[in-house]
Amino acid sequence: MKNAKVLIRNLTKTYEPAPLWSRFLVRTSSKEPIHALTDISFDVNSGEICVIVGPNGAGKSTLFRILTGLITPTSGYATIEGFDVTQESFHTRSTIGFMPADDRSLWLRLTCAENLAFHGRLQSIPEKQLEKRIREYLALVDLEHATHRVGFALSAGMRARLQLARALIHRPTVLILDEPTGTIDPVGAYQLLQLLQKIVKEEEIAVLISSHRLEEIESLDDNVALLDKGRLVHWGDLASLRRIWTVPRIDASFDSATAAEAALATLALSTDCSSQQSAPDTLTVTTKVSVGALLHLLHDHQSHITSIQESQMSLRELINQKLQAAEIERQETHL
Ligand code: ADP
Ligand code: MG
Repeated sequence: MKNAKVLIRNLTKTYEPAPLWSRFLVRTSSKEPIHALTDISFDVNSGEICVIVGPNGAGKSTLFRILTGLITPTSGYATIEGFDVTQESFHTRSTIGFMPADDRSLWLRLTCAENLAFHGRLQSIPEKQLEKRIREYLALVDLEHATHRVGFALSAGMRARLQLARALIHRPTVLILDEPTGTIDPVGAYQLLQLLQKIVKEEEIAVLISSHRLEEIESLDDNVALLDKGRLVHWGDLASLRRIWTVPRIDASFDSATAAEAALATLALSTDCSSQQSAPDTLTVTTKVSVGALLHLLHDHQSHITSIQESQMSLRELINQKLQAAEIERQETHL
């Protein structure tokens, strides 16, 4: 079987508390160990985008720091094209293009072309190829017109695109983007992600991208790794998350509050649904059964129903529900 481009196995990272003396210097450092990642395993293949989703502190940046060889895991391992990211980071670093979470890695006094030249030389791109490569990647991210403009004079969206060009210029086979859209407006973010999808299709690379903006993931529709407090609570495509988690919501309105209350009493007898009175004359029912089956349950009350409406849960609700369930499960296992 062909190995996955990025393979992550039982990856665990615990940040140990800083030594006592250094706590005077780093006032924020914790006295307790922080379990930033716990037993994470998944793969990403060529031509795939994997979106790492999770609230702040979920462990996204920690995962990326391990993959890029900046820190070592406490246990478990990860490989890129078969090379261990910790033991053989010399090999793996040149295969990775990394876009960090902010634009501090750009030289804002230098022009776009100069920024790319600087990075290209660090990556040992031969001088003869460098100029052509810079033109090629500035064109790819639609920044040709800004070739000689300094970083200070670029908009946030343009800086993000320049960082993307910088991450790609040495032709990596794995691209890692830490919240690339964090600082840009939604239109700029959408354009950046569209561009990313085009690049992935054309260049057979594997992409890991982290985000806490749920609307964005909806537009990507690729594999999703949902992280919460360092644990992987879902891995798979968005559709599978929906299949497992979407419970259709039905709003039923009645001709009077009394009729709604009577229907509520009837539904309380059924184990197939959970109902609540969302307005005096309206019940909101979350149920695995269809509207038809619900009407059957409400047979005796049908003449009082004035409207019935089915809706899908939003992605945000869906993910929050999954995170809450993970939290409850964790509390129960600690009891
Ligand atoms: P995310 O990128 O998803 O916001 P991080 O990987 O930055 O999450 O952080 C995960 C957890 O690890 C958080 O609780 C954070 O406070 C902690 N953490 C991150 N970096 C360090 C560090 N260098 N030392 C100690 N704790 C850290
Ligand atoms: Mg982060």
